[in-house]
Amino acid sequence: MVVQDDPCPPIAPPADPIARVLAVLDGIADHGHGQYGARCPAHDDATASLSVAAGQDGRALLYCHAGCTAKAIVAAIGLKLVDLYPTWGARHGAPRSTLAPRLRRVDVEENQPLLVATGLTLAELAAAKQLPIELLRRFGLRDFLLGDLPVVRIPHHDEDGTVVAVQFRRLLTSGPGKFVWRRGDTPALFGVKQLVQARRHGPVESLVLVEGASDVLTLEHIGVVTLGLPSAAHFASEWDSALDGIARIEVIIEGDTGGQAVCRWLRNVSWRTRAWMVRLPAKDVSELYLVDPSGFVAAFQAARDLAVPVHPTWPNAASVTIAARRR
Ligand SMILES: [Zn+2]
Repeated sequence: MVVQDDPCPPIAPPADPIARVLAVLDGIADHGHGQYGARCPAHDDATASLSVAAGQDGRALLYCHAGCTAKAIVAAIGLKLVDLYPTWGARHGAPRSTLAPRLRRVDVEENQPLLVATGLTLAELAAAKQLPIELLRRFGLRDFLLGDLPVVRIPHHDEDGTVVAVQFRRLLTSGPGKFVWRRGDTPALFGVKQLVQARRHGPVESLVLVEGASDVLTLEHIGVVTLGLPSAAHFASEWDSALDGIARIEVIIEGDTGGQAVCRWLRNVSWRTRAWMVRLPAKDVSELYLVDPSGFVAAFQAARDLAVPVHPTWPNAASVTIAARRR
């Protein structure tokens, strides 16, 4: 039997956006693990300035180290931003995917790197942090549209349960614009409402103070009462009342410049005699959990066991009296 070559095979575009992009780029170098280098088509590129990699959802991520925008890069090779997504069918009569609003936003924000403009959903955040989405919802987190951009809305409550500040998370990974506060809001503690609820069930003897909502959610997931600082830079005196009556306040000291900032203000807060410093064998609580979720409870407890008091000699009535007289 003779198999005839089809003289006119249907020309289908590659379904994989990475393959689609690589098919039209020059000077491709395969760096392994799905990472490629190529000459950037949007500027006169003698070296391979363009990095190509796959995003979590299968989209092709483009990054020109000379600063060309994703829009300029795809335009130079005759593609559109939508071609970077595994949704080719959307342009060929198939139902529009749920990613459509994001793509419009990408078009609008042509001067921003693609990673910045694609937004974040509650489900994506829960999956990335390996936390049940119900826990995030219980803390008031929800999907929100900032313009056309999907973001996660993170409400911050006072002790009466009133929302006093709202933060929007726009990115999973670190980068400019990862978080933005609602216009006019003053950054506030995260988890105050839940702390008040915990107090209703009995006295709260100890509490962990972390940086950011994700670390609060991670510790609440294992039943640890936690408050989140909006940043490592300072602790406002108006937040003191949230810590009233709590005998032991364990402050996570992150191993970066933020951790150094915490060490500076921690020596001056009114509750310093109740404060303990906890160092983690990871960047932060969330990272410690993600490297080994099943071993997290033990790893976190081991770090707590090594906590050191901020003022090892206090409370000491004599030294307090002498200090007061000298003033
Ligand atoms: Zn370039």
